[in-house]
Amino acid sequence: MAANGESWLSCIKCGQKYSISRRKYVCDRCRGLLEVKHTFPENHTEKEFHGVWHYKPLIHPSLEKARIVSRGEGSTALYSHDSVSEFSGISSLRMKHEGENPTGSFKDRGMTVAVSEAIRLGATETVCASTGNTSASAASYSALAGIRSNVLIPTGNVSPSKLSQAIAYGARIIDIPGDFDLAMENVARIAENSQDYYILNSINPWRIEGQKTIFFEIMKELKECRFIALPAGNLGNTSAAGKAIREFREIGIIDNIPEIISVQAEGASPFYNLWAGAMEKLEPVKASTIASAIRIGNPVNWEKAIREIRYTGGKVVRVSDREILDAKRAIDRAGIGCEPASAASVAGLKKLVEEGQIDRNDSAAAVLTGNILKDTASIMEDSARIPMETFMRELTA
Ligand SMILES: *Cc1c(COP(=O)(O)O)cnc(C)c1O
Ligand SMILES: [Zn+2]
Repeated sequence: MAANGESWLSCIKCGQKYSISRRKYVCDRCRGLLEVKHTFPENHTEKEFHGVWHYKPLIHPSLEKARIVSRGEGSTALYSHDSVSEFSGISSLRMKHEGENPTGSFKDRGMTVAVSEAIRLGATETVCASTGNTSASAASYSALAGIRSNVLIPTGNVSPSKLSQAIAYGARIIDIPGDFDLAMENVARIAENSQDYYILNSINPWRIEGQKTIFFEIMKELKECRFIALPAGNLGNTSAAGKAIREFREIGIIDNIPEIISVQAEGASPFYNLWAGAMEKLEPVKASTIASAIRIGNPVNWEKAIREIRYTGGKVVRVSDREILDAKRAIDRAGIGCEPASAASVAGLKKLVEEGQIDRNDSAAAVLTGNILKDTASIMEDSARIPMETFMRELTA
């Protein structure tokens, strides 16, 4: 029997246990993904912290507080707005705005935990592949901790605002002539060959521990939430949602189990194919969508994520780029705003309402994963401007 407040790594396939000092995140016996497990202490919160570390006993109970590398991430706002409710067809729709985190996306919640763990293990270099937000976050937290970050960027596939964050925070940028999936394969290659680079992609199970707090906060605030929708790319966040729900249930904080609605873009929907086709294995695809943060064809966390969809009785939905941009416009015009990938959550809920799978009186929360300034190309294409003379003519007409 492990003592209270202990943590270990466990293979999701064969259950093999490993010490948390291990830096490889696949099982030696069966190549299954590893997850963090804890014996939870009596107290589930840490009163002197807010945000992510408020839940320290549920995410890294034994970590010395002095080791924490934090920018005060978490405790983001939960919005409601009549016009977005009307757009989605759900009268009490709530939006959890993760774009309000320090580097502008939910990635900060996982990064504060993973980089704290990197420091605990004495790492001096971090590495990740990224569609943009992971690298922005990894670069910031690595700099804060005084270690170097290396980011593998699929050339031409990352929005300039995200890339400029990584550059500004001092990351070493490594160009990958291809897509995110190729960059991710290269990170796996680095991991096989060297222990010197601490991996900050969501295959690192500490990322998932931090990201659980998005869903802890939603469940705390919305006692009767029936659906939680989120965009799905590499599937770390879908995995985090399920783990958070299971653990809140296990320690008796909730009775009902919210259903996870995992939303993919049509042009990057291998997880939808897996779920809808009841396939045994995920078949990678070549990814193409305007929503660059979910432009991923071979998601590393699919085995965790499908388990969580099934556990919560949830669904995987796919939406077109048009539907994503329509939802983004509704969210933007409400004065809230988000990046394109984030709007997939609202687009997915709207689709399920139209299909009669969600009732307008059901309670639902949509996670807005990233800030409006993260990916502005679609906004600029859309902008109609008027010359000053036209404006004056209107004024004097
Ligand atoms: C990373 C990211 C996603 C996808 O999350 P996964 O955990 O990879 O499924 C969605 N939206 C934004 C804005 C992101 O940065
Ligand atoms: Zn195993």
